[in-house]
Amino acid sequence: MEERHLDAIADADTYPYWYEDVDEPDSNPTLVRTESCDLCIVGGGYTGLWTAILAKERDPSRDVILIDAHEVGSAASGRNGGFVDSSLTHGIANAQTRFPDEVGVLEELGLKNLNEIEAAVKKYNIDCDWERTGTIDVASTFHPSSYVDELRDDYAHLRKLGQRVEWLDREAMQAQVHSPTYVGGLWRHDTGALIDPARLVWGLKAAAESLGVRIYEDCKATSIERDGVGVMVNTPLGRVRAGKVALATNAFKPLLKRLNNYIVPVYDYCMVTEPLTPSQLESIGWKGRQGLSDIPNQFHYYRLTEDNRILWGGYDTMYYFNNRVRQELESRPESWAKLSKHFFETFPQLEGVRFSHMWGGVIDTCSRFCVFWGRGMGGRVTYALGYTGLGVASSRFGAEVMLDLIDGRRTRATATDFVQSKPLPFPPEPFRFVGIQATRWSLDMEDRTGKRNGWLRTLDRLGLGWDS
Ligand SMILES: Cc1cc2nc3c(=O)[nH]c(=O)nc-3n(C[C@H](O)[C@H](O)[C@H](O)COP(=O)(O)OP(=O)(O)OC[C@H]3O[C@@H](n4cnc5c(N)ncnc54)[C@H](O)[C@@H]3O)c2cc1C
Repeated sequence: MEERHLDAIADADTYPYWYEDVDEPDSNPTLVRTESCDLCIVGGGYTGLWTAILAKERDPSRDVILIDAHEVGSAASGRNGGFVDSSLTHGIANAQTRFPDEVGVLEELGLKNLNEIEAAVKKYNIDCDWERTGTIDVASTFHPSSYVDELRDDYAHLRKLGQRVEWLDREAMQAQVHSPTYVGGLWRHDTGALIDPARLVWGLKAAAESLGVRIYEDCKATSIERDGVGVMVNTPLGRVRAGKVALATNAFKPLLKRLNNYIVPVYDYCMVTEPLTPSQLESIGWKGRQGLSDIPNQFHYYRLTEDNRILWGGYDTMYYFNNRVRQELESRPESWAKLSKHFFETFPQLEGVRFSHMWGGVIDTCSRFCVFWGRGMGGRVTYALGYTGLGVASSRFGAEVMLDLIDGRRTRATATDFVQSKPLPFPPEPFRFVGIQATRWSLDMEDRTGKRNGWLRTLDRLGLGWDS
């Protein structure tokens, strides 16, 4: 009885479920000579690919090269939960704390961005199981404070902004999805979609190539340097001589050293079950197939896949000393065991279900929990990063603004404090590691007791924090 959550993960493959797909594209060659272009994009996740696509859509004559250290979509963009959330700010509560005067415009820009992603998926014929289901933020007894008040605040604010939101009391929530832990929920009807993340990133790769973007894989940028009025991007076997460079390297070691102060790489873990049988599905309801998430400091996110598996992830995010990013850190059995235990506490009626795949990936956490931008090398280099685990949709916005900055365009977005400001930096090691561990411990205590301790209140005053 006690070990059932361990039995459920015993046979799972430690590999992203989304990569088990016959439609995975062939790899591209690496770069073995010196090439020139107008714009070189470093990083082939959503941010880099959207930058490439939008750059060609704006100006088809612009010569664009994209390079990736591994394969396009091999990092977060190919292995995430597939929640496409319109929020640019990691939720409205964070927008209210950090950009109180811009909440309305940021929500509007976020929704527009989501609609534009939907339009692009259609335009480029990207078969990524797009489902505009909306999202339910769940209040549950999983934690002593079920966070009902916080959710009600979000509901009131979103309603005031004219969004199509619905408050679900215990009964209405249970009518959507059955779990003995649910006491309420906030259904955001229009602001969320679900996708197969790998199929989206592969589809964006194909779209970029169809527009004439040259993509090199297994091609790590080892350094960048000024080169006349442009920039030289050095790779192990070649070089790119570019007019401008866009950095879309997310949580990986930044090519501009100072960016190390602003982001920390954090590992997030998730898993999927085997496909549910019709009677197992019946036992949980979930006819609306919405993306679900609870909202404590340490939260779970979960959803149905196209073939009715449940993807279940989050909660136990990890920072490793000195910004470590390594493939072996994508595997963490203790986190998967904890997630499995929480899964059966949430859905006890699914006893006997087993997980088929479990994996992890790295996200780029910054102290404001949402994307920021900047420039280097006298404006030749631009970057967008810091999505903190909610980047599937906002990476397109990150790319669009990065391109505005490259092109010197002034828009409604570039006029905002959100675009113009930066997060507070993290301290250097060992203070960074100690501070993060103290914060994670304090957030866990808050989730358990409902009380915010002195350390967290101090961080609140400084505008610092921790999220995933
Ligand atoms: C397990 C997990 C679940 C998640 N779930 C969700 C979710 O459901 N919804 C959501 O909104 N967000 C989610 N996220 C976050 C989301 O996936 C990311 O915010 C988003 O994919 C970031 O895209 P990106 O292109 O900026 O970064 P990435 O996808 O990380 O791409 C960066 C690329 O840069 C390349 N690179 C790095 N350095 C170099 C270099 N020097 N030279 C060349 N290439 C380089 C890397 O190889 C990589 O391919 C999740 C993340 C993880 C890990």
